[in-house]
This record gives sequence, structure tokens and C-alpha cells, in this order.
Amino acid sequence: MKACVFTLGCKQNEAESASLMRGLEARGYEVTDELSFADLYLLNTCAVTAEAEKKSRQAVARMRKFNPSAPVIVCGCASEHNAEEFASRGGVVLVTGTARKDKILELLNERGVFHETEGCFTELPPPKATKTRAYLRVQDGCNRFCSYCLIPYLRGRSRSRTAEKVLEEARGMSAKEIVLTGIDLSDYRDGETDLGGLLRLLGELPARIRLGSLEVGVVTDAFLGQMKAAGNVMPHFHLSLQSGSTRVLRAMNRKYTREEYLEACGRIYRDFPDAAITTDIIVGFPTEEEEDFLSSLSIVEEAGFSRVHAFPFSPREGTAAYQMKDLPAAVKKERMGRMLAQAKAAEERYISRFLGREAVALFETDGGYTENYLRVYAEGAKEGGLYRVRLIEQEKDGVRAEILEEI
Ligand code: SF4
Repeated sequence: MKACVFTLGCKQNEAESASLMRGLEARGYEVTDELSFADLYLLNTCAVTAEAEKKSRQAVARMRKFNPSAPVIVCGCASEHNAEEFASRGGVVLVTGTARKDKILELLNERGVFHETEGCFTELPPPKATKTRAYLRVQDGCNRFCSYCLIPYLRGRSRSRTAEKVLEEARGMSAKEIVLTGIDLSDYRDGETDLGGLLRLLGELPARIRLGSLEVGVVTDAFLGQMKAAGNVMPHFHLSLQSGSTRVLRAMNRKYTREEYLEACGRIYRDFPDAAITTDIIVGFPTEEEEDFLSSLSIVEEAGFSRVHAFPFSPREGTAAYQMKDLPAAVKKERMGRMLAQAKAAEERYISRFLGREAVALFETDGGYTENYLRVYAEGAKEGGLYRVRLIEQEKDGVRAEILEEI
């Protein structure tokens, strides 16, 4: 990611810009002081003369010519003198004047750099009709800026589809299961309707509803209550974890602790005792020490995950974590081996609880999924068939089952 810090005026401005440039470099930006193409512009303005003010205003227009979609932050005397004038210009996302120059870097820490997209959800044609499982987009973008993730820079800020549009598309679907998707599904909001409210509305559908990836903060008593009340939402929670160590979570800019994560799991099991909680874990984040990794290993058992998607940390240019010292590949590889073994054991433990029990499964071409996301294989199951089955024994990545009846 490239940032351009363009300065007009006095030495004081030059000095302040130099500090800002250093701060941006520390956050992983390639920084230039020449007006050229960039992903972010910072304009330090001058008001010593009318001509200087005019040049400051013109600089915004020149930046927009280089990159019309890059955000522009304006600070300095001219913007202090006439903030409205700068704020009304296209691309300007922040005007700080002279007193709040120090706030710029803080703000970037909190919110990162974002493309101020049109701010509304981009409607696309409905996906191809299916009788089994269909995906329904309800949200896009992300405001969280986890330190290892590029998505907020690429997808822009969080925005949600209107509940009306979601319902309209859902009603037209013939699928027996609808999976709600979003980059940050937990952040869904259309006016007063949050994700729980949307589930209540989707409760009118005959289809099963499954949720995409969730963040810990959404798992409140109220949300779980709404999920229960909807009646057709599957007891499967993909609850993104990333690390079992609070220290590493902080370095990742994840906004919860290990304890808060486990409390959320506890609330889920209280309301949905057979729930499947699946998760993602990053192994070998730059600040992860052996003790932190052991915390990630132990939480796999403590949280009772039914499936863990573990992957080694890989630095992405343009993210804050890119600037951190990467761990040796051998350390990551060795930890991955231990994590995969732990994940496999957790999966087997979860599956074993259900052997001999009945379940309802929706079948696709090769096997199907129970309500709590157990992979099942049954002889004679037809694609698109919904069956009551008995779970017999572990097989491949799931369970062999016998069909009891078609539903
Ligand atoms: S990891 Fe997920 S929540 Fe974090 S910034 Fe990326 S998309 Fe957003």
C-alpha cells in the first residue's frame, strides 16, 4: 500500500509531515512526498497567503486525478481556516485542521485506510437455482482491520443489504438450505434490524438457514434467543477464533479475550447443547511464543470444537502484521503438525458423541450434512433428499449413516 504525504508551506509543516510519514511507514506503507499515484493521500495545507490556500485546494484535485478512489485526509492551516471547503470535496474522508494532526495516526490505527465505497450494498443477480444448498449474500466489507488481513483494504467498509431485498431473494429460492454469507456477517444491520432480527424475518421460510462465519461479539443472549425463536436456523456456529492467547489476539487487533471467547461458547452450548462450533486458527503469528501456541492448542479441547481450520501465518503486504518479524518456517511447520493432530482429535471426539443417534441430513452429490454440520454418507441417498438417518460409525471425514425415512 502506498501513501502520499504532500506538504505545502512552512518548515513546521514539513517537520510535522516527516513525523506523519514515519508513522505511516511504521504501519507498513510505502510513503512518498511527491504527488503521484497512491492508495492514501495526506495533505498538509498552508494558509499563509490566499495563493497558498488555493494551491492547497488544487492539490486535492490533483490527488483525485492520480487515484479517484483513494481516500484523502486533509490537515494543516488552510483546512483549519476553511474546513467546510475541504470537507465538501470528493474523496476527502477526514479534515483535522491544525490541532488534531496527532489524531491522524491514531485514527488509522483504529480504522486503517479504507476506500470510501458508495456505502451501499452492491446488488447482483440471484445465484443459479439449486434444490440443495444455496448462498445468500447479506453483507459485504469489513471495519475490523485485523492486523494480518487485507480484506478491509480490498472490500471497503461494512455495508448490509436491506432486509427487504434479502427476504425477496430468499423467498425466490428453491434450495432446502440457505447459507447466509458476508465478509463480516455479525455486523449485519439494516436500520433497526441486526443479524438476530434478520433471522427472525427469515424464520418464515420453509428452508433451513445456516450462518456463515461469526464474530464473538454477536453471540449474546438476545441473539441466541432470536435464533431459537426463528426455528429454522441450524445449530452450527463458525466462530472465528484465530488464537487462543489473549496476548496474540491483541497483536492481531481482535477485540476479545480467550475468556470472552470461551464464555460465548458456553452460551451457545447452554442454548444449543448439540451445537457444532467450528473455527479458524492461525498458527505461528509473528508474536506467538510457545506458551501462546499452547493456549491455542488447549482452547481447541476446551471449546469443544467440532472442526478446526488451521493454517500457518503468511504475511500480507500492506497489513500491519507484515512489518512484524515472521517466525522461522520450521517453527510454523512444527506447530502446524501439533495443531492438526489436536484438531483431528477434537473432531473425532465431537463425532463420537452422536454415534448411534438419529439426525436429519440434507444430501448433495457426495454425502450430506446434518443440522449440526456432521458430514454423513448413506447408501441410497438422493441429491436434494432430506432424510432422517441413524449415525453408525466414523468414516472418512464424517460418519456413515443408514437412512430411516425421507422427510
Ligand atoms: S479477518 Fe475477518 S474480521 Fe478481521 S479484518 Fe479480515 S475480514 Fe475483517
